[in-house]
Amino acid sequence: MLAVRLMKSLSVVLFLLAACDLAWAEEVPLPRAKPQTVANSPLLTPVPEVLPLHDAEGWPSDCALRLAEIARFAHQPSLNGPGQCGASDVVRLEGIAMPNGAIVNIMPAATLRCPIAEAVAQWVRSDLGPAMAELDSPLAALTNHGSYDCRGRNNVAGAKISEHGRGNALDLGPIRLANGSAMDVSNRSTPRSFRQRVRDAACSRFNTVLGPGSDAYHAEHIHVDLAERAHSYRICQWDIREPETMAEAPIPPPKPVVLRSRSANCPHSAFSASSNSRAKSESCTGRRHGRRD
Ligand SMILES: [Zn+2]
Repeated sequence: MLAVRLMKSLSVVLFLLAACDLAWAEEVPLPRAKPQTVANSPLLTPVPEVLPLHDAEGWPSDCALRLAEIARFAHQPSLNGPGQCGASDVVRLEGIAMPNGAIVNIMPAATLRCPIAEAVAQWVRSDLGPAMAELDSPLAALTNHGSYDCRGRNNVAGAKISEHGRGNALDLGPIRLANGSAMDVSNRSTPRSFRQRVRDAACSRFNTVLGPGSDAYHAEHIHVDLAERAHSYRICQWDIREPETMAEAPIPPPKPVVLRSRSANCPHSAFSASSNSRAKSESCTGRRHGRRD
C-alpha cells in the first residue's frame, strides 16, 4: 500500500516537472530560421569565388544585347588572373547567325570578350560569308585555334601578355564548308582573290591581323584582335602569297625501282634508277607519276 502511494506521488512530481519544462520551453523564443543562400544549398552549384564584374555593371551589356541578334553564345563569368590576365563582359561564342538564317558554328566555342565576339560575327556575316560566294559551297563552320588563354605573346613564357590573356583575340584555323571539305585561308592553295578579300575585310575590322608573312608563329593560322594602341595604330600583316606553282612544288622522293620484264607496250628491256629511263617507261605504260595536278 505504501509502495502504491509512493508511486502515485512520484508520478505527480514527474508530471509537474514535465509541465514546467514545457511552459519554459514555450516561453523561450525559437531562433529565426536562417535565410537560405546559394552557398548553403546542396542542390545548386557553388558560388564562384570572384563575382563577375559585368554582373555588378549590369548584365546583359549593350554589346551582349547586340550580339544576341546575330550570334549564339553563353554568358560567362568574368575572368580574373593569374597576373594581368582577365576579362569582363565575357561570352562563349558558339555560332554566328548568317543573314539567311544559317548558323556558322565555332568549333570549338570561343571564349571572348563581347566586343571582339561581335566584331568576329560581323566579319563573318558581312565579309567572309559573301566572299564564299566565289567558292563552290557555303560556309558551315570556323575552326577556333585559340581564344582566351592566359599566356605571353606567341606562347613565350615571360613575354608581354598576349591579347589572348585578355579575351581580346581569336586564332582562326581552317574554314569548314557545307559540302564537308575544309579550306585554309592561310594556305596559298586557297583561291588568291578569296584570301585577299578576307584579309582586307579583317584588317578593316580588327586592330591587329597576323597571318603568313608576319612571323613563324602565324604561318598557318590567322590571328585577329582588338588591341588598343596609341593614335589608333593598327597592324595588318598577312601576305597574300602567290599560288604554289609546279616549279615550286616539292619533288617527291623517288620510289623504289622494280625491274620488269620486256612487254609488248614497252620496247625497253627494263626500268633503271635514272629519271630519264623512268620517264621512258611511264610513257610506255601511259601512266604518269610524280606530277602534282
Ligand atoms: Zn593569336
